[in-house]
Parts: sequence; C-alpha cells; structure tokens
Amino acid sequence: MIQSRRRFFREAGLLGLGFAGVVLAACGPAKPEVTATAVSVSSLTPAAPSASPTATPAAVRYDPDLHVLVDKQRVLPDGFTPPNVEVIPDAWEAGDASGQRLRADVIAAMQPMVKAAKADGVDLRVESAYRSYNEQVRTFAYWVSVLGEAQARRESAVPGHSEHQLGTTLDFADASNRWELVESFAGTPSGKWLAANAYKYGFAMSYPPGGEPITGYVYEPWHFRYIGVPAAEAWHASGKTLIEFLEALKARS
Ligand SMILES: [Zn+2]
Repeated sequence: MIQSRRRFFREAGLLGLGFAGVVLAACGPAKPEVTATAVSVSSLTPAAPSASPTATPAAVRYDPDLHVLVDKQRVLPDGFTPPNVEVIPDAWEAGDASGQRLRADVIAAMQPMVKAAKADGVDLRVESAYRSYNEQVRTFAYWVSVLGEAQARRESAVPGHSEHQLGTTLDFADASNRWELVESFAGTPSGKWLAANAYKYGFAMSYPPGGEPITGYVYEPWHFRYIGVPAAEAWHASGKTLIEFLEALKARS
C-alpha cells in the first residue's frame, strides 16, 4: 500500500501528498476537523532568530504576483496558471523524485539558499513542488476512490485551494528521515536549517506548529512558499502565520 501510494504520487508528480496513512494537510490529505484552541501567534514561528531591524511590515508592499491569498476558504481564480514554470535542477531532487517544477524566478531565488545551506553542511532537496489544477483534480479523485468523497474532503485539498498551484511553493525532504514528509522532518538537518534561515532567502513556512486553528492545516515543517526577501523578513519579524501576514499586507494595499 505504501508503495502504491508512493507510485501514484510519483507518476502524478505529486509525491509529498502523503503515504502510509500519514496525514499531510495542505500537501494533500488534510487533518479532519479543526478543534480550535487559543494560540499565541507570536509563538508560531519555530527557531526564530532575532528579526532584521530593517525589515518592518510597513516597508513591504502587497505584491499581487507573489502574495496571492489562498487557503481552505479562498480559491484561486479559474484557470490560474503560474508563469515560467520550469523543471528544477536534478541535483535538488529528493530521493527518487524527478521532474519537479517551480517558477523560474523561484528557482533563481533558491540558488543562493541551496548554496548557503551546503556551506553549512546541509543538502536541501525538493520532494514536491508545483502542482497544476488538473493534477490536484487527479489527486482529489484518487482520494475519493480510496476513501469515498466525504472522507476525501476531510483529508485532501480541494482543487484550486492549494499553495502548490502557485508555482512558488515546495516541500523539502531529508534523507535522514527517509524523505518522509512527517513532523520528524523538523528535527532533520534540512528542517532545522530551513526553520532558522529560509526567510532570509524569501521563503516562509506556511503552516507552523500550533497554527492549525488559524491556517486550517497541521504543522508542516517541510512546506515553504516564496514571497520575496523583504516580505519574508517582515513576515518573520511579525510572528504571524503567513496567511495572517498576507491578509494584513493586502488590507493595507
Ligand atoms: Zn506542501
């Protein structure tokens, strides 16, 4: 069963959605109901180094290209397709992942991050990246066939609601936990490095620990979205979840 699920995701270019019964929220299967408990948003960003004094939310503007709001409530426009999606370098592929795609500008933004991580002895690898609307349709249909529609809706992102459709979002994986997109990724060399440094290169962790009442998704220490360096620094300094930060940014624009 594990293999067949892995193979499905691989063939669909969707690996990272979840396998072996693991629940992976925004990357595919989503945790059922949100049981709301109060969360201190200031505690949501893990391993937070001190904020850059020059990056304040007021200095950053909403960018309709990079800061599109999408979550369980907000759907992307019909036919939304990111520009310039390209296959990432082979050297970045995790495990047996292949053909993963991102926007060209995001690939360019990743270059210095991959290099910096390597200098720290960390080998960043990509498990899953861009997924088109149709790929998400296929994913959802797969889960309906396996689980039935009612349960599929509780465990898989409905097409049009995934950050992966943006072309700016990716899931990292680390060999030390067998490339699995589970919470233990946070303790891997990649997980630790990304939590501490990804924002410096423009990447935000969309679904932090304890954020489920706000984001609708469980902690996903592997899932990052590119929002540009100034915005990511301001997001990091804000202590807010990404969706709250982007909402505030848009409201001010
Ligand atoms: Zn993801």
